Amino acid sequence: MSAVIVSSTESHHAGPQVQERGQRAVFCGLTSIIWLHRRIQDAFFLVVGSRTCAHLIQSAAGVMIFAEPRFATAILGERDLAGMADCHEELDRVVSELIARRSGINRLFLVGSCPSEVIKLDLETAAAKLQAKHENKVRISSFSGSGIETTFTQGEDQCLKSTVAELPTLEAGKENLIVLGTVSDIVEDQFRRLFDELGITDVHFYPGRKAGDMPPIGPGTRLIAAQPFVGETARALIARGAVLIEAPFPLGAEGSKSWFEAIAEAYSRPDDLVQHVLELPYQRAKRAVSSHRSKLEGKRIHFLPDSQLEIPMARFLSEECGLAINEIGTPFHDQLVMRGELSRLAPEVPIVEGQDLDPALERVRESRPDLTVCGMGIANALESEGLRTKWSIELVFSPVQGFDQAGDLASLFAKPLVRESILEVGSWS
Ligand code: SF4
Repeated sequence: MSAVIVSSTESHHAGPQVQERGQRAVFCGLTSIIWLHRRIQDAFFLVVGSRTCAHLIQSAAGVMIFAEPRFATAILGERDLAGMADCHEELDRVVSELIARRSGINRLFLVGSCPSEVIKLDLETAAAKLQAKHENKVRISSFSGSGIETTFTQGEDQCLKSTVAELPTLEAGKENLIVLGTVSDIVEDQFRRLFDELGITDVHFYPGRKAGDMPPIGPGTRLIAAQPFVGETARALIARGAVLIEAPFPLGAEGSKSWFEAIAEAYSRPDDLVQHVLELPYQRAKRAVSSHRSKLEGKRIHFLPDSQLEIPMARFLSEECGLAINEIGTPFHDQLVMRGELSRLAPEVPIVEGQDLDPALERVRESRPDLTVCGMGIANALESEGLRTKWSIELVFSPVQGFDQAGDLASLFAKPLVRESILEVGSWS
């Protein structure tokens, strides 16, 4: 294990910051396929991995399958792993069969895993060769979801980054806005209505609902992140000319208002128009959040590193719901996309980047917070010790962004606390 104190001058957060390295307990990047395949409705994800990889995505996504699934695993057998079989030939055959059978698929992602990484299978070259072979039928690219390289939300970043080079160039003199990171369709629709009212046109959501929704990019592109785990893609888009708008994430009434205000300011929209458009949804969101405040106020919450949503969630909970933040553990602390958040956190809140599982759990046990946000693998152990938990994966799967979801977001944290108080009353009576 190692822990490194990070100087606060390197960050926009004035408080204590530590980097930990040690045993991790986080899902791998393959997990991102679950929400990506729901979002990009004509994409197929072919994991090149082991039976373990197949079980992971099958069990995590199984409940959502109601039609032909758009993900599968090409399982590497012992002969492949021993280097006795030609994996490229096998992959070629599997992909050709898939494309022949699934005419509605317009984008194929080859997804690397721990086994494909260990045997050094070059999926990038394989994707380029397969692309040349199937040029007119489907776009093909690759990314890594391996647990050696990625934690679960990083899978999305890797996926999106793999398509940046294909984005067309924005014509000189034109402007557009890219909203980066998966949001649900319902959130996209709500955001589009507000952008229309603000007079902000040519807005692209990336990823879009269709694989062919590829936003043009260039110096006229403004970029805003809707998710905190897209830092590498943001850097790739900035390298192609996009200008990043600094803002907190659109979580809660205040976060959503500041997010839209930052975009409106970048577009020089008149103040009175912006206030007029945002006022109603903002007030509605505040009312929805405040209806849960009595269950949350004064409670202590602890974030263990998992989804990279930890910092913006902590900001929402402290700023709007009155919770005290014990500690924010986050697998990565990306200063680029997090700038708009850090100045709103109380300076004394400690941020721990990375993970060393045992000491991290010890700190939870010592401080016994009212609620711990953590991965599914850790939650049961803490619950058995009488500690209330919230699965962080729920925050990724649920539509939580924007004004209309602010109340639901607060209720996600209130529910386990309410459940506890019911249990307490039950056991007393
Ligand atoms: S990619 Fe690695 S961590 Fe993820 S399921 Fe496969 S073997 Fe496990």
